[in-house]
Amino acid sequence: MKINRIAAAVLGIAAVATAALTANASHSWSNYHWGRTSQNFPLQVIDSNTPDWDGELAQTLADWSQSTAFNLSVTGYDDSSRTRRRCVAVQGKIRSCNSTYGNNGWLGLASINISGDHITQGTSKMNDSYSAQFAVQTERDHVMCQEIGHLFGLGHTSEDGSSQNTCMDYSQSATSTRPNQHDYDLLVSKYAHLDSINTYSTSSAATALTPSQQAMAGQNPMGVRVHKGVFHEVWAAGDGKGGTWVHHVTLAAGHENTDVLN
Ligand SMILES: [Zn+2]
Ligand SMILES: [Zn+2]
Repeated sequence: MKINRIAAAVLGIAAVATAALTANASHSWSNYHWGRTSQNFPLQVIDSNTPDWDGELAQTLADWSQSTAFNLSVTGYDDSSRTRRRCVAVQGKIRSCNSTYGNNGWLGLASINISGDHITQGTSKMNDSYSAQFAVQTERDHVMCQEIGHLFGLGHTSEDGSSQNTCMDYSQSATSTRPNQHDYDLLVSKYAHLDSINTYSTSSAATALTPSQQAMAGQNPMGVRVHKGVFHEVWAAGDGKGGTWVHHVTLAAGHENTDVLN
């Protein structure tokens, strides 16, 4: 019974997420957003990328920083291979990682932990196992920008490969590597209201996990697939603590769900 209840709860949340993804022209990722009691809140990023990804990370953080919804800053660095492989989420923060995660079908993976509608932590992973696909600079820029964009609560502008000149589409176009004005406008409207709580953290203590915390913090469970697109999937899992992990998967070339087209 317990398992069924959790599954039902996850599926309920996922159904909302899926409906929003397919029906919401504003391309918000459901109503997910960081809780904050004041405007232009500080959102800290932990850099767990190797130097070959630092340029892409710096570019996309500079681009997303043009949003007036939040103030992004990199406040932690740890690109040891163990940290990058585990990419443990930190409460109230974003962690950006890359590693050879294996030929598992996903090129990029954005994961957010949500409590109600509030994002409480997030990770973005680039899968270096698909090195041939990531040999293309526009692909690197596109996927890095999109997965980070998901961590603010943004969804896709389109899921059919058409271009809206934003990294939040699935176009291979060279003009789809960075956010556009529509993304900034959507962030302003998503973050126009104020909340009664802050779900971001500026605690420096939270940046580094102790070895015992590292040992306890397992991989975030992928759970069940709740949405299948040609180029992407959404997965959801209970976190065992009352929250939910929701994952946005960018599929690697050759792993597209072409049956969705039928
Ligand atoms: Zn709110
Ligand atoms: Zn995506």
